[in-house]
Amino acid sequence: MITCDYLIVGGGFAGLVMAERLSSELGASCLVIEQREHIGGNCHDEYDDHGVLVHKYGPHYFRTNSPRIREYLSRFTEWLSCDYKILSHSEGRFWKFPINLNTYEQIIGRDSTEAEFAAYLERVRVPIAKPANSEEVIVSQVGWELYRKFFEGYTLKQWKRHPRELDASVCGRIPIRTNRDDRYLVDEFQALPKAGYHRMFQNMLQASPGVKVLLKTDFREVLPHIKHRHLIYTGPVDLFYHHRFGHLPYRSLRFERESFTPEQLRAAGRPAISGREGFWQPAMQVNYPNDHGFTRIVEVKHATRQQTENTTIVREFPDDYQDGKVPYYPVPASDAKAIYEKYRALAEQESRVSFVGRLATYRYYNMDQVVGMALTEYEKLKTRTETGHLHRLAPKTLKIQAA
Ligand code: FAD
Ligand code: UDP
Repeated sequence: MITCDYLIVGGGFAGLVMAERLSSELGASCLVIEQREHIGGNCHDEYDDHGVLVHKYGPHYFRTNSPRIREYLSRFTEWLSCDYKILSHSEGRFWKFPINLNTYEQIIGRDSTEAEFAAYLERVRVPIAKPANSEEVIVSQVGWELYRKFFEGYTLKQWKRHPRELDASVCGRIPIRTNRDDRYLVDEFQALPKAGYHRMFQNMLQASPGVKVLLKTDFREVLPHIKHRHLIYTGPVDLFYHHRFGHLPYRSLRFERESFTPEQLRAAGRPAISGREGFWQPAMQVNYPNDHGFTRIVEVKHATRQQTENTTIVREFPDDYQDGKVPYYPVPASDAKAIYEKYRALAEQESRVSFVGRLATYRYYNMDQVVGMALTEYEKLKTRTETGHLHRLAPKTLKIQAA
């Protein structure tokens, strides 16, 4: 039997922030159970066989408007400031994206002004006071032509659902601007951990003496053998409840990596992209809304600014979710929400379990939002400890004892 104060299921952002806070500040013992062979969840990065730092589970562009979240993470990493720039590719050419004045100039084939572009949008936009879905949120800003060019096909490919069947928040994530600001994200602070995500997560654990991590372990196998005061659960909420209200829908992904040496780049006819050597494509990310089975090709070296002449690209193919695959995305749609509400009602009644993170609360959350959620949950648990509602169970340092 193992004893600990907090049993934490999942070693992603949510689980590790909770573990660090509970251990460093409250002196609690925490056992993190992670089914993968590494910590960091979907934010994990690693050096591939060509020495290129890649984001294993799709591109992870850190951003936040919250000084509290930035300051918290800055204890464990320095930052590499980035203006994340991407392009869209269709009809055989690259388009500036997200839609901005430069995109409009490409479309009309001449120089323009912010006023002219704004007047164009005013003419073509469909007046909808309160956009109720992802189609409406885009056509109400840019009209049908730009919607079809950039959004409809991509969304169908990514979600296997029409934009009309998805919450407005899905396509509403993408900014649309009449000026020349072509950054993909809107947040004030946009930066990557300077030495990578994995190093940042390692630093978090190093600062947390009371935390032990068990990798390659499914929590269901070990739960009966662990005596704990409180459970922090960051896995899929429907799995926790044995799918008693049915399976929640998720979208999965498949990643295809391809690496290039300088010789291979030359052979592929890409000796220099925009005057720079060692890159395969002209931007960190190129979206393919209308062609191919993949949605985007990511060459994250543009953002990490790693000094290496090799490069690696990752093609990202949306995939149906089923057991054995990773549930990368909760599906932001009303039918899914209706199922989730039933699970949420159960979760809210638990006094010895906290549900934290993207899968446990079934929310299409970015990293900073998950960090914020974990910090808030930690404050709640701290108050419960201070008021005597949650007692320490184990000695300060977790002892893993044989049963
Ligand atoms: P996760 O990272 O999913 O961690 C949960 C952990 O629980 C996983 O490691 C999992 O293996 C483990 N687990 C699940 N079930 C079990 C079990 N039965 N037993 C043991 N362990 C289990 N956010 C951004 O801010 N910027 C981006 O650019 C960005 N890009 C993204 C791109 C993609 C393709 C995806 C999928 C997400 C992206 N995100 C991005 C979101 C970001 O990945 C999440 O916000 C963050 O990873 C959520 O952390 P989490 O701890 O809640 O979940
Ligand atoms: N989207 C689109 N065209 C694009 C980029 C995004 O239609 O070129 C839509 C699509 O539905 C996507 C959503 O906007 O799922 C959010 O895009 P984002 O790049 O933020 O997705 P993520 O990185 O979370 O997969």
